[in-house]
Amino acid sequence: MKKIFLFLLLILPIYLIISISFLDKKPFLCPVQYKGDFIIRSDSRGDGTFASPRNGRRVHKGIDLLGAVGTPVVAVRSGKVIAARSNNGMGKYVVISHSGDVVTIYGHLQQIYTKEGDFIMQGTVLGSVGKTGNARSNGIQPHLHFEVRKNGIAQDPLEYL
Ligand SMILES: [Zn+2]
Repeated sequence: MKKIFLFLLLILPIYLIISISFLDKKPFLCPVQYKGDFIIRSDSRGDGTFASPRNGRRVHKGIDLLGAVGTPVVAVRSGKVIAARSNNGMGKYVVISHSGDVVTIYGHLQQIYTKEGDFIMQGTVLGSVGKTGNARSNGIQPHLHFEVRKNGIAQDPLEYL
């Protein structure tokens, strides 16, 4: 009897993790919810499309989705929050690990509403659009910096949205 209980205790978390990935209603949500089509940032300081040039021969590894400061940002798929912190470039940011070696990154947030180690369901608000990190300058329109990485390689998020 005890052995069965122990077995269930071991199996249950694995089962939950697997089933969570099937609970997603859509394969991918847009992290900023728009009434119509999503809007990509384009201002005097740069343009927010994937692979557009950046200082020092770097390229933009994600897309910049325009949104007023405070606009809710949602998890595009269910997964595990593997980072919820801040650095100089991204400002406040969240990283979620999903099944299939897919990772999504949400940058320049004003607020973070989740924490490292949390399981987050698709559509859950993880933070709000802000101007933190290198998005602080006045000329930069407020936006969500959003990245999708598969097996560690940056993908064009538009192919997923
Ligand atoms: Zn960006």
